[in-house]
Amino acid sequence: MKILLVEDDPTLGDAVMVALRQAGFAADWARDGVQADHALADFSYDAVLLDLGLPRLEGLDVLRRLRKRGATLPVMILTARDSVEDRVRGLDAGADDYLLKPFALDEMLARLRALLRRAHGVADAEIRVGRLCFDSVKRQARIDNAPLALSAREIEVLEILLNHADRVTAKEAIADRLAGWDEGVGENAVEVYIHRLRRKLEGSGVSIRTLRGLGYVLELAR
Ligand code: CA
Repeated sequence: MKILLVEDDPTLGDAVMVALRQAGFAADWARDGVQADHALADFSYDAVLLDLGLPRLEGLDVLRRLRKRGATLPVMILTARDSVEDRVRGLDAGADDYLLKPFALDEMLARLRALLRRAHGVADAEIRVGRLCFDSVKRQARIDNAPLALSAREIEVLEILLNHADRVTAKEAIADRLAGWDEGVGENAVEVYIHRLRRKLEGSGVSIRTLRGLGYVLELAR
């Protein structure tokens, strides 16, 4: 699952990005309203964390434009304690929830998971291949009922492969998805994540096959 954070405060933005990634979410960070508007028009996200007071284009306008395009993805507004009116206007403009600043990062993650769960439903949030089951909201993989210990990056790679199970995923597509706006993830790094995932999936009945020059396929082991 990929989240867009829209926040112009660098300190808060940094903290939220770290928390999102540690929790296993892919995330992009837009630092003003215009950047957010472009990102939402051009890329696909599963949820938005949206500050209201933003340079260049206000958060509420970003939200209105998003809903006008017919996008239904969940939006959580991040707003200061004293602006009751803003919160009401935010909900009126199509926000699904709001979080009062300052907030605890754990609470933000819990509320985000609840939003994603509501948007996708429990059945939808679970991807199964053989004995491997991945909960895309909790960001957890299990083999039978035993949780797999995966790093945040490994979780992202596994999710990408699971979403294309039995089909080829290009290495560049994985690198693109992993790359935030500020950091490049090389294709060599992708190979490392695949190598680690393979080892952790050993004996699970699920394997990741390399198709030279094309990419990877996650499938039931033969
Ligand atoms: Ca702000």
